[in-house]
This record gives sequence, C-alpha cells and structure tokens, in this order.
Amino acid sequence: MATQGIPERVRDFREGYRAKYVGPRYSGRAHFAFTSLGSLAVIGFSLSRLEGVRPLEWLTVPAVFLLGNVVEFLGHRGPMHHRRKGLGLLFQRHTEQHHRFFTHEALAYESARDVKMVLFPPVLLLFFLGAIATPLAALCFALVAPNVGWLFAASAVGYYLTYEWLHFCHHLPPEHPVARLPVMQRLRRHHQTHHDPSKMQRYNFNITFPLSDWLFGTAWRPGVPSGADLPGASVPKPDLDA
Ligand SMILES: [Zn+2]
Ligand SMILES: [Zn+2]
Repeated sequence: MATQGIPERVRDFREGYRAKYVGPRYSGRAHFAFTSLGSLAVIGFSLSRLEGVRPLEWLTVPAVFLLGNVVEFLGHRGPMHHRRKGLGLLFQRHTEQHHRFFTHEALAYESARDVKMVLFPPVLLLFFLGAIATPLAALCFALVAPNVGWLFAASAVGYYLTYEWLHFCHHLPPEHPVARLPVMQRLRRHHQTHHDPSKMQRYNFNITFPLSDWLFGTAWRPGVPSGADLPGASVPKPDLDA
C-alpha cells in the first residue's frame, strides 16, 4: 500500500478503522457494483414504464436534480456535520470517520477495501429507495400523473447515483485518468477544500455540483477566512470510538 505523503495521524486513523470496521469478507468492488447496478436497474425499470411523455412532464427531471442539490447541501451542512438526535450515525460516519480517513492532504483511497469509507453503506440505498424515493414517486404518480411518478423515481435514484459516483471520483488516486479530466479536477478541488478540517464546518457542502454552495454563499474562495478563524468552529476529537 502506498502510504507516502500521508500525514501520520491520518495513517494511524486509517489503520485503526480498517482493523476495526473492514472485515475480511468486505469487497469494495462488490460494494461499488451493488450501488451502481442496483441504482441503474431502478432507473431502467422506471424509464421503461413511461408512455407518451408530454413536454411539461419532462420538467420533472431538472426539478428533481435541483431539489436533490439542495437536499444534498442541507443534509451535508446539517446532520452530517452536526450531531442531531436520531441521526447520530450520519454524523459519526461522516464527520468522525470519513473526514478523518480523508483530509485535504490525503484525499485518495489506497485500495479497493477503502471504498467502504467512500460510498454509503448498501443498506442506505435500500432505505433511500424504500423510505424516500418510492413514497414520493407514488405521490407524484397518484396526484400528478403516472409519467411524473416514474420520472421522479428515475431522477431521484439518478441523483443518488451521481452523488455516489462523483464522490467516489473525488477520492480516486489523482493520477487516475478519470480524476485527470478537467471537469473532475475542478469538482475535486471543491471537495478537497471541504476536507480541510479548518473549513469543513463552513464551506463547500455540495459534493456533486456546487450550485447550492453558490446560492447559499458557502463556496470557499481564496482569502475567505477558514472556519478555524471564526467563533464556534470545532474539529472532531481524535478518538476512534467517539
Ligand atoms: Zn469526501
Ligand atoms: Zn463533510
């Protein structure tokens, strides 16, 4: 494993996390395949149900993508970075684990087994499908039109998969051909800045496209004070079980 250039505290955290949480049967490739193929199957099935879509109904797609961008922003700025009752697991997995496994100085994963710390757990895809996407799509289906329901389902799952794929790309080794694409380099820099512990509580909460960061004024620019300079800033404690 290439550990060159990785700060010691990150290296120690990674070793501790792998030993404690990544079991011998875990496969990063299977995890990636489950997320990708599971999502694509739902998208394909939903699109196959469309019949004679009217121009106005197609607007469901950009509307869901805009909504998804705001939800991503609020979820990340809220419970993923602030411990909230009933959502403590999100805070633990994101702020206390993901942000210590990856910092702005060590953004790339080292092996397929580290994918566990990049993608959401498979059970979250099932939860997202069962508890969020399906009921909302069913409402659209019943109250607006069947096509809008199926387009809602396809777009919502499409957004989830976009999030997972782009976040995965942000944590690729920088020499990977996909990571070297100009658009990916730009998006990656946005996320890399967010992984700086002094900025993570205040800047760059979008993981896909920085639209909401721009709307809500949280896009970091050189010269803007970091979170460490502002009152109320906090950096997670360095204990594995916190
Ligand atoms: Zn990340
Ligand atoms: Zn974060």
